[in-house]
Amino acid sequence: MKVVDPVCGMTVESTRAPAQVVDHGATIYFCSEGCRQKYLAAHPTAQG
Ligand SMILES: [Zn+2]
Repeated sequence: MKVVDPVCGMTVESTRAPAQVVDHGATIYFCSEGCRQKYLAAHPTAQG
């Protein structure tokens, strides 16, 4: 499934995403660990 990295807007394949978190029960995928860290800093409710 193709999903959009909410930090940088890049499209990533969820099964190959290098980083992900769970926020409010939804899994969010990122193109890189750097984007994941930015998301976590801005969304304290996110886990993982
Ligand atoms: Zn990204």
